[in-house]
Amino acid sequence: MAISHFYPPRRTLMGPGPSDVNPQVLAALAKPTIGHLDPLFINLMEETKALLQYAFQTQNEFTIAVSAPGSAGMETCFVNLVEPGDKVIVCINGVFGSRMKENVIRCGGEAIVVEQEWGRAVDPDAVETALKANPDAKFLAFVHAETSTGARSDAKALCALAQQYNCLSIVDAVTSLGGIELRVDDWGIDAIYSGSQKCLSCVPGISPVSLSAKAVAKIKARKTPVQSWFLDQTLVMGYWSGEGKRSYHHTAPVNSIYALHESLLLLQQETLEASWQRHQTQHEALKAGLLDLGLEFVVPKDERLPQLNTVRIPQGVDDATVRQYLLNEYNLEIGAGLGAFAGNAWRIGLMGYAAKSENVLLCLAALKKALS
Ligand SMILES: *Cc1c(COP(=O)(O)O)cnc(C)c1O
Repeated sequence: MAISHFYPPRRTLMGPGPSDVNPQVLAALAKPTIGHLDPLFINLMEETKALLQYAFQTQNEFTIAVSAPGSAGMETCFVNLVEPGDKVIVCINGVFGSRMKENVIRCGGEAIVVEQEWGRAVDPDAVETALKANPDAKFLAFVHAETSTGARSDAKALCALAQQYNCLSIVDAVTSLGGIELRVDDWGIDAIYSGSQKCLSCVPGISPVSLSAKAVAKIKARKTPVQSWFLDQTLVMGYWSGEGKRSYHHTAPVNSIYALHESLLLLQQETLEASWQRHQTQHEALKAGLLDLGLEFVVPKDERLPQLNTVRIPQGVDDATVRQYLLNEYNLEIGAGLGAFAGNAWRIGLMGYAAKSENVLLCLAALKKALS
């Protein structure tokens, strides 16, 4: 086998992530690597924390970037917070809710599942019923933006319920951060994780995480050590903490942090509100065009994510053939259906840098060709 250098084509990424990376972010990635305990890098970590606090709309001191993808952010929240025997109410309305349940079980916790039909938002009434029936529950866990279906749940209402029933909230914001309204402090979110490669339009492999003072207190009061050494945040705190000397825990992905810092700075310069609005505006344009093509949305109008548009594949149209055609002819990637939607839905992402008019026009024109 002759192995040669790899030159990826320039694709337009309109799937469920990774999304298109801003060239400025790619340029940041190519800057010279410095030591991870270099004072200049420590300063960059501090700035990254501040930028993450802005993105999450939080004053939480514990706001960091886990050195691994969104799934590791998910695992970070569960392995640190959930102790053996803890009861967790887990909302499942797609693939990522099921993974939360899997995490709870592996932590030795007891998962009380609130199931919701795929393609729908989590039902706050069903959650309240579960909270009433389980007064000893310690956590409420749900996915804000369910990327497997394109459904948006009411994080504000769900977190208010968690507080009312004395539970800490654990929120998956992998696809929501930067794309739709999200206010960690105002909504009283206790533990939240995200990903770098969805609406932040950074390279994959980093997971922003923020924990409230209540969540940090719960971790500090653990009776048993966190079973994962790498994800044990009592150890990681010494690495990301600003006070005094940094202690070596692991080596941060230095260049990826340059990229994250750049993408967060671009978001701050645009402002969150403008970014949320841009996603909504581009979604409206895409929606109009998709409806013109005769495609139907899976998620009811009020529960749709602007950054992830799930449409039914029309009768007689072959899923893989169309996606191959888009990739080969237009260098355009859209997402296949996942789980229950495999083979019968497409997921069209408008995430971060990819949420722009050129992409909407390209996608609509290419899909029109493909369908004819
Ligand atoms: C993408 C995604 C994840 C997982 O993130 P990875 O970076 O792929 O590990 C988790 N939850 C949701 C809602 C996602 O969209």
